[in-house]
Amino acid sequence: MEIKKLLEKAIYYLNDSEYTNPYYEARLILSGLLDKDLSYIISHEDENLSENISNKYLDILKKRSDGWPLAYILGETEFYGNKFYVDEGVLIPRRDTEISVETISKIISKNKIKNILEIGSGTGIVSISLAKENEDIEFDCIDISDKAISNTKKNIKFHNLSNVRVFKSDIYSNVCKKYDLIYSNPPYIKREEISKLQKEISYEPITALDGGVDGLIFYRRIIKDLDEYLSKNGFLVLEIGYDQKEDIYQLLSNYNHSCIKDLSSLDRVIIASKGEIDV
Ligand code: GLN
Repeated sequence: MEIKKLLEKAIYYLNDSEYTNPYYEARLILSGLLDKDLSYIISHEDENLSENISNKYLDILKKRSDGWPLAYILGETEFYGNKFYVDEGVLIPRRDTEISVETISKIISKNKIKNILEIGSGTGIVSISLAKENEDIEFDCIDISDKAISNTKKNIKFHNLSNVRVFKSDIYSNVCKKYDLIYSNPPYIKREEISKLQKEISYEPITALDGGVDGLIFYRRIIKDLDEYLSKNGFLVLEIGYDQKEDIYQLLSNYNHSCIKDLSSLDRVIIASKGEIDV
């Protein structure tokens, strides 16, 4: 079937799903299947594809119309201008998380930071994005999920980094030193709200989303033992849900704190430190 015709099928399968951009997604799927870049797909719309490829493509579109996330279908996504592998069973990077990278970059530019711990690294996007630009900083990524650890490893290898390590740990259970900066985007959704989220999220690992009854369980654990793992005047950076700032400020009553909003003007990243916060 011709590429043009195959793209039209995307309208048929994907048009009534509010979270898709059918032509764009269809082009990405085809470019993955043909191993060509997007501009090739756009400039070869009359090319006839084999029945085998056409059928594979139509199968993928059907899965996609059931809500199967595009990042899992393609096995990769783009974050902060770089390509990252995304394995099924690992949380898919969110655009909002780029604010965390920007916030940490600002802290790095104004303070002497020699090492960073990321709690719950998932695909590893945050540490790896920062490690590419900060070769003199050591990054330790931890996660409780073996799938996340293997996904982070794959991305470290793909980006060819020697300043990022990853190991298994349940929050601090296997952490044995202090860090100048600790970052986490832990599971923070209230348990009762998870079932109300869009269909796509049901394909993602619930352990990466479920923050317990009040959504705060992991923030509490991270903050409780923080003094033991954070250097003097070090920084804690947390990605949070839009309505969690006040609750988390209460947990951080012994620290100075400040909050950065995302592009939709929602509270998104908290910075805490016993020293000065100048961001
Ligand atoms: N921001 C994610 C979402 O709304 C949640 C990620 C998390 O729990 N840390 O899907």
